[in-house]
Amino acid sequence: MDCILWVMKRKLGVVTSQPTTARRRLPTWVPQGSTLPDEVWATRHHWVMALLVVQAVGLLPYGLVRNYSLTDSLLQAALPLAMAAWASVSWLSNVTRASVAAVGLMVESGIIVHLSGGVIEAHFHFFVMVPIVALYESWIPFGLAVGYVLFQHGIVGTLDSSSVYNHDSAQSSPWTWAGIHAGLFAFACLGALAHWTLHEHARQVREQLKQAIEQDALTSLPNRTGLKRLGQEAIGRGDPISVLLIDLDGFKDVNDTLGHAGGDLLLAQVATRLRTVLDVRDVLGRLGGDEYVVLLPRCGPEGARAIADRLRDSLTENFAIHDLRMDINGSVGISSWSPSSPDPENAAAVEIMTELLRQADVAMYVAKQARSGTARYEPVQDHEARRRLTFISELRRAIDSEELVVYFQPKISLVSGSPSGLEALVRWQHPERGLIGPGDFIPTAERTSLIDSLTEVVLDKALAAVRQWHDADVLLGVSVNVSPHSLTNRQLVHTVDRLLHRYDLEPRWLCLEITEEVLLVDDDGALFLLREMQQRGVLIAIDDYGSGYASMSYLQRLAADELKIDRSIVGGLAAQEPSPVQQRSAADYGLVIVRSTIEMGHSLGLRVVAEGVENAEAMATLTAAGCDEAQGYLIARPMPADDVLPWLRTRAPIRPALQRLGAS
Ligand code: C2E
Ligand code: MG
Ligand code: MG
Repeated sequence: MDCILWVMKRKLGVVTSQPTTARRRLPTWVPQGSTLPDEVWATRHHWVMALLVVQAVGLLPYGLVRNYSLTDSLLQAALPLAMAAWASVSWLSNVTRASVAAVGLMVESGIIVHLSGGVIEAHFHFFVMVPIVALYESWIPFGLAVGYVLFQHGIVGTLDSSSVYNHDSAQSSPWTWAGIHAGLFAFACLGALAHWTLHEHARQVREQLKQAIEQDALTSLPNRTGLKRLGQEAIGRGDPISVLLIDLDGFKDVNDTLGHAGGDLLLAQVATRLRTVLDVRDVLGRLGGDEYVVLLPRCGPEGARAIADRLRDSLTENFAIHDLRMDINGSVGISSWSPSSPDPENAAAVEIMTELLRQADVAMYVAKQARSGTARYEPVQDHEARRRLTFISELRRAIDSEELVVYFQPKISLVSGSPSGLEALVRWQHPERGLIGPGDFIPTAERTSLIDSLTEVVLDKALAAVRQWHDADVLLGVSVNVSPHSLTNRQLVHTVDRLLHRYDLEPRWLCLEITEEVLLVDDDGALFLLREMQQRGVLIAIDDYGSGYASMSYLQRLAADELKIDRSIVGGLAAQEPSPVQQRSAADYGLVIVRSTIEMGHSLGLRVVAEGVENAEAMATLTAAGCDEAQGYLIARPMPADDVLPWLRTRAPIRPALQRLGAS
């Protein structure tokens, strides 16, 4: 049974080591003993004591009824009463008190048999007392009780057989009858032991299940339920306590790019790293996702902040996942409670703990937003938390109710000067706050998985616009930005199929812009999805190239169609101010990067597009360096869908100006 339990625990991720050999040596049907929780033991002892006293008091009238003298009867009652008094002494150990009470019950059985003159039915009393003694589920009281019965039947039965047996055959051969009684008594004992064993095992199973329910399967740390219980216990003891809620920054990207298996590896490594900073009495748990909680019993806010800083420092050394080394930062929210804290209406421990977790969560968000690393909960932060929640529900509503609008920014060919396509860029037409840029709501959408429906809305509007352009004989395609998260959802393929079909467009008129971190993926889910798109004829562009960490070698992982050089690199091309030495060299440096990126892109068969082209000088340099296309404020700012066709029609060719600049 124990091994079965152990296997169950392994399956549930509760244990990682073998069960103890000491425990395994015992046959499974033999109870372990002394496993009763204190409070259960106390209840059982209470009722055993009540029985002991009631029976002892009953011995007095029984003795008198059986024609014993008052003194004799009093003496018979006095012995178990004295034992009851002894077993009530609270500073004695539980085993001692249970042993005295167990022997007391058996003594009462012996006295009843004696007072009855050895009437055989009085022996039933022994059989009734055995399961009661077994309620202690402890070997010493149980053994003493059995020992007493053996003594009573073996020794007293031989020396004074009439006080134990009332029939001639037993009186003439007391050992034979002692043996018969011992055999029957052994059966009673086995029955009691069976109950004891089953109770013990049931309790163990319950304990394991409780542990499993309270444990995070990935890290074996306490989960929310476990943390709450442990926190409540500390609060119940009246200890001050601080709660730290740690959230990893940018973990979503790690998960999206490395896949869930890689993300899980990182989470387990972070748990190990955090544990090294903590004291044994501190509790580390995981709420789920990338959120960890530390309970610091007997620790005030100041101590908590110092530990929070140490925890964050522990994460600075980078983590190795597969062949990648990555930096992870964490934001920590701190909340604290002490018995002197003002509690709303004498809140119970469970409410205090729930509130502490909430406060730590609010503070963590403040830390994340302010990029301050740590923040301590202040009541004013609740306002910000409410605002955030409102923002999420507003965004959900915006996606459903057409508040999202798509702007389009043209790209032009640097060879012909004509528009070569447009990029769809989402905005939120907020009823009160006006037009909100994507930077203010895309991160929230990505955090809350609203991004999938947002991408669908943008795809729909973008392809609807392409249909309009084509109907007006303007044969241009559209580029749509797709977050890494959406590439983990196969639904995207079906959505694209459905929308292309709805607007009757060939796949080549759609280009999906992905960021370079998607190429870092080890788990090939996203790349597989992108290749599937390519097989259909949809184009793929690598956006913001040069803004992240992807090295050139990662570009081989996906045969993309377009490489968009990030505007941070393009912006470095043009030294705006007249030439202090450093700026010239920065511009030269930018030129080297741009040139080599263009060359590398071309050698991989990619069309190279420069983003963020803001001035004519940069455009000329890019043209001279062989860049294929350009996009930027110099050409046009992102514009509403209705402005696209008029812009395309009225726009004067840009090429002559380019040639002039290129020649200068
Ligand atoms: P992005 O895909 O790199 O888009 C180009 C951004 O650069 C746009 O900002 C555009 O307005 C801006 N830009 C264009 N030319 C210039 C220029 O000459 N100078 C400067 N300084 N900026 C220029 P926007 O519209 O604010 O979009 C920001 C980012 O938000 C986009 O970067 C893209 O990553 C994301 N985004 C926009 N729409 C969507 C969407 O529908 N889905 C997803 N997942 N992301 C989107
Ligand atoms: Mg883009
Ligand atoms: Mg970009």
